[in-house]
Amino acid sequence: MTTDYELEKKTRVIGEDLFNSMGKQVPSVFDRKSWTGRLMGWVMKDEGFKVRLFRFIDVLPSLKTDDLIIKLLNEYFADEENLPVIFKGGIRRLSNSRILPFFAAKIIRTAVASLARQFIAGKDIRDSQRTLKSLQDEGAELSLDLLGEIVVSDIEARGYVERYLRLLEFLFNAKNRSRNSHDFSYDISLKVSSFYSQLDPLDWDGSIKHASSGLRSVFEKAGSSSITLDMEHYYFKDLIIAVFMKVLGELEGAMRPGIALQAYLRDSEKDLIKLIEWSRKNKKRIAVRLVKGAYWDYEVVVNRQKGWPVPVFLQKNETDLNFEALTKILFENADCIYPEIATHNLRSVSHAIATADSMGVPSRAFEFQMLFGMAEPLRRALLKKNHKVRVYSPIGEFIPGMAYLIRRLLENTSNESFLRKSFAAKISFEELIKAPEEVRRDTIPEDSGGRFSNEPQLDFSRESNRRKMIDALQKIKGEFGKKYPLVIGNRQVYSDREILSFNPAAPDETVGRASSASQKEVDEAVTEARKALEIWRNVPFKERAGYLLRAAEEARKIRCDLSALEVYEAGKTWRDADGDVAEAIDYFEYYGSEMSRIGQSVRLGHCPGEENEYLYEPRGAGAVISPWNFPFAIPAGMVSASIVAGNCVIFKPSGLSPVTGSMLFEIFRKAALPPGVIQFLPGPGGEIGDYLVSHPGIDFIAFTGSKDVGLRIIEHAGRTVPGQKTIKKVIAEMGGKNAVIIDETADLDEAVRGVLESALGYQGQKCSACSRIIAMEGIFDEFARRFKGAVESVKIGPPLDPSCFMGPVIDSAALQKIRSYIEMGKRDGRSLYIGKIEGKGFFVGPAIFMDLKPESPVLTEEIFGPVIAIMKARDMDHALEIANSSVYALTGGLFSRSPENIRKAKCEFRVGNLYINRKITGALVGRQPFGGSGLSGAGSKAGGPDYLLQFMNPRSISENTLRKGFAPGL
Ligand code: NAD
Repeated sequence: MTTDYELEKKTRVIGEDLFNSMGKQVPSVFDRKSWTGRLMGWVMKDEGFKVRLFRFIDVLPSLKTDDLIIKLLNEYFADEENLPVIFKGGIRRLSNSRILPFFAAKIIRTAVASLARQFIAGKDIRDSQRTLKSLQDEGAELSLDLLGEIVVSDIEARGYVERYLRLLEFLFNAKNRSRNSHDFSYDISLKVSSFYSQLDPLDWDGSIKHASSGLRSVFEKAGSSSITLDMEHYYFKDLIIAVFMKVLGELEGAMRPGIALQAYLRDSEKDLIKLIEWSRKNKKRIAVRLVKGAYWDYEVVVNRQKGWPVPVFLQKNETDLNFEALTKILFENADCIYPEIATHNLRSVSHAIATADSMGVPSRAFEFQMLFGMAEPLRRALLKKNHKVRVYSPIGEFIPGMAYLIRRLLENTSNESFLRKSFAAKISFEELIKAPEEVRRDTIPEDSGGRFSNEPQLDFSRESNRRKMIDALQKIKGEFGKKYPLVIGNRQVYSDREILSFNPAAPDETVGRASSASQKEVDEAVTEARKALEIWRNVPFKERAGYLLRAAEEARKIRCDLSALEVYEAGKTWRDADGDVAEAIDYFEYYGSEMSRIGQSVRLGHCPGEENEYLYEPRGAGAVISPWNFPFAIPAGMVSASIVAGNCVIFKPSGLSPVTGSMLFEIFRKAALPPGVIQFLPGPGGEIGDYLVSHPGIDFIAFTGSKDVGLRIIEHAGRTVPGQKTIKKVIAEMGGKNAVIIDETADLDEAVRGVLESALGYQGQKCSACSRIIAMEGIFDEFARRFKGAVESVKIGPPLDPSCFMGPVIDSAALQKIRSYIEMGKRDGRSLYIGKIEGKGFFVGPAIFMDLKPESPVLTEEIFGPVIAIMKARDMDHALEIANSSVYALTGGLFSRSPENIRKAKCEFRVGNLYINRKITGALVGRQPFGGSGLSGAGSKAGGPDYLLQFMNPRSISENTLRKGFAPGL
C-alpha cells in the first residue's frame, strides 16, 4: 500500500515532469502578445473595470442596432476615470461622431467575437469542424455541448431536443462517410434543465417524467457517441441524478453514459457513493465527470439570499482537498465507474495520475477533461505523456453562449483561479504543487449578531420537506367542516349566522364554518378592547415584543399545517402558501425587534435644568381589516404591529379566508397573549365593516384591500361621530395596476421568467402582480413570442398537485369578473393568447392582450386575475410615461442592462416598490419594505423601519428640574 508520503512524492515527480513539459507556453487567453491577453491583464488588476467589461460583454450580443452598441459603450465606460489608456483612447475614437456607428459597432462586435472564439468552438457543428479536427489531430477526444438559451417554454425545450438529434444525425452520417470512424466517437454533454421548461424538484415525479422523455430520445439516437449530463445549480442536483438513474434504468446497451459531479459541494461524496452503489446494483457501468464546479458565486449568493445553508465549501482548499478524496474513490471503483478527471489544475492532475498509478489503474482506463480554450499547455503535456484527454467544446451562437463565456472569463481571472496563478501570476512550481491544506470541515454558522433575519422558505428540493407538506395536507383535510367561533374578550361565541369557507379548487368542499359577527358583537368587542387597553398599554414594551417572538415560535411549530390550510382555503400553491407563512413569522420577529428599538424614550436637548423626554404611546383601540390573498401574513403584520405598539384590536379577517384568520388568533392564544388584546370578529364586510370603522370607540384602522373599500374607509373614518374622542388614523394599503418595462438591452431569458412569475404567480391575485408589460419596439416581437410560449407551458389545476403553477381564483364572483375583463380585452384590442381550462373549481386560463385602446378598462383597472396587457414603447421616456399613467403606484419593474435606463427608472418610475432585473412580487420583510403611493396606499411601508410609528402617537414631556436654584447633574 502506498503511504501518503509516497503518494505525495510521486505527485511531485509527476507534476514536475508535466511542469517542465509545459515549458514557457502560455494559454492563449493570457498571451500578452495578443490584445485579449492584455485585456485580461487589465481585468485582473482592476475589479471595477472587470465588472463593467464583463457586463458590457454580457449585453453586447443582444444589442440589435449599431447605435445602441455605441450608446451602451459610452454608458459603461465614458465616465470611468481609471480605464487603461489604450482602452480609453479606443472608446473615444469609437464614440467619435465622425466614425459611422456601423464601423464602430463592427469593430466592437469583432473584438468580442474573437474573445468568444477562444472558448466557443464555433457557431454550429459545421463551423466548428476545423477547430475540432485540429484538437483531434493533437490526440484529444471531444465532448460537444450545444449552448442554448434558458428554456422558458415547451416549444423551446422541443427545439433543444431537436438540435441534439440533428447533431447526432450529422455525426452519424459523417462517421459513415469517414474512413477513420474513431474521429466521430464523441461524447455529448447536455443539460437536463433544457429538456423541460417547468423542471422543479417540488414536482418531483412530473419533472422526472417530462425531462426523461426528451432525454431518452437523445440517448436512443446516440449510436456510438456517449452522453454526459452536466451538473447545474445545486437546487436541481438531486433531481438531475434521479433523472439520470431513471433514463439509464430503462435503457439497454447505451454507450457509456455519464454524469458530472461537483467537488465544491459538501454533498458530493455522498452522491458519488450513491452512484457507485446504483451502478453495481444495476450492473451498468457509468462515467463520472469530476469537476470542481462553475457556479460558486451563484450558490453562495442565492442560498444566502434565501437563508438556506450554503451547499458549497467556502474555502478553495476544501474543494481541492475534496477533489482529491473523490478522485481516490473513483479509482477505487474503476471496475464500475469510468473516472473523468476534469480540471486544469496541475496539482489535481498530478495527484490523480499518482493515485491511479499507486492503485494499479492503467492510464488508458481513465481520462482527463479540459475546457476548450483553457490550460492548453497542460493539455498538450498530458497528451505527450500518452494520457487520454477530452476537450469539452461548446458550440453555439453568441447570445446563448454569453453565460458560458462569462463563466469562463470569471474562472480565468478570479483571484482564486489556478489558471491565473499558474499562467498569469507565474507562481513557482513549489506553490503550484503544494497539497491543499487541511481545513476544518464544519463551517462556522454565520452570526447574524442578533439582527433580524428572514425566515427561510422551505426548500422543496428536499424530500423531507415535500413529505411534511403531504402529511399536513392530509391532516388538514381531516379537519374540514369544523366550526370556528368569534372571540370577544375571553369568550368564544358561536353564532347562528355562519360564513362557509369553500375550497376554490373544489367548491363542494367546505374547509370550515366560521361564526359571523353582527353589529351587537362589534359593540361588545370594542368595549372589551377598550377595557383590555387600560392594562395592555402599560405592559413594558419589551414584554409586549416577547409575545410576538413567542407567536413566531408557535407558527413555526405548525408551519406546514398553516400552509396546507392556505392551499385549501385560498387556492395557493405549496410554495406561495409557505411563503405567506414565512412572511408572517418575519412580521412577528421584525416588529418585535423594531419595538425594542423604538420603545425606549429618548432625551432631547442638553440644557441643564430641564429634562425633555420623547416617547411613543399607543393610539388606543383599532380595527384590523384584512384581505384574503395573503390570508395569514397580512393580518399577522397588521395585528402584531398594532399590539406590540400597545394597542388592542378587533381583527376582522376576509370572509373568504376566515379559517386561516382564526389560526392567527389561535397562534396568539398559544403564545399566552392576555384576553381582550385581540378580538376575533369575522363578518360581512359591508355590514360590520362600515359599523366598525365608524364606531366612536375605534381610534385607528389598519386596512389592506381594494381601492374602493379603502377609500370608503378613509371617508367614513373622516366623519366624526358623537362620543368619538380621537381623530381616526387610517393606515390603508390598496390595489395596483403594476407595470414592467423591458428595454432592448434586457436579458430576455430573465425577463420572460421574471414577468411570468410576476403576472401569473397566484393567478395574478397578488397586489404586486404585473398586469401591464411595456416592451420596447426593438425586442417587442421576440419578447411577445417567447412570453406567449412560456404562458402556454404552465400547468393550471388544483394547487394540491405540485405540478400546477397556477391554481383557481378565489371565488365565483372573481371568476365572473375576470371573464368579463377578458371579453373587454377582446373588444378593445387583439388577443395574443387566451388559455382554456375546464373543471369544477374557479379556474380561468391566462389571457394576454395587445394593441388595446388606451382607455380600455383592461389597461386602467385592477383586474386581480391572470389578464395581461402588452404595450409597445418607443424609448425609455415613452415607457415611463405609460407606466406612470395609472392612478395606482404600487409596484413596478424594469428589465434592462443599460446603466442610463436603470438610473432613469430609479428617478422617474413613480411606484412604492421598484424592482430592477427581478420579479416584482415577493417583497421580504426588512429587506423590501412594502407599500404604494398614489391611490395604492396611504400608509408607510409594511415591514419597514417607519411602519410601527403609525400605530403610535409621539409625546413630548418636559420637566423643569431647577428647584430653588438647584439643578441635578450640573
Ligand atoms: P376587499 O377590499 O374586497 O376586502 C378587504 C377587507 O375589507 C375584507 O376583510 C372585507 O371583508 C373588508 N371590507 C369590505 N367592505 C368593507 C367596508 N365597507 N368596510 C370595512 N371593511 C370592508 O379586498 P380583497 O378582495 O379581500 O383583497 C384584494 C384587494 O386587496 C386587491 O385590491 C389587492 O390589490 C389589495 N391588496 C393590497 C395589498 C397591499 O399591500 N397594497 C396587499 C394585498 C391585497
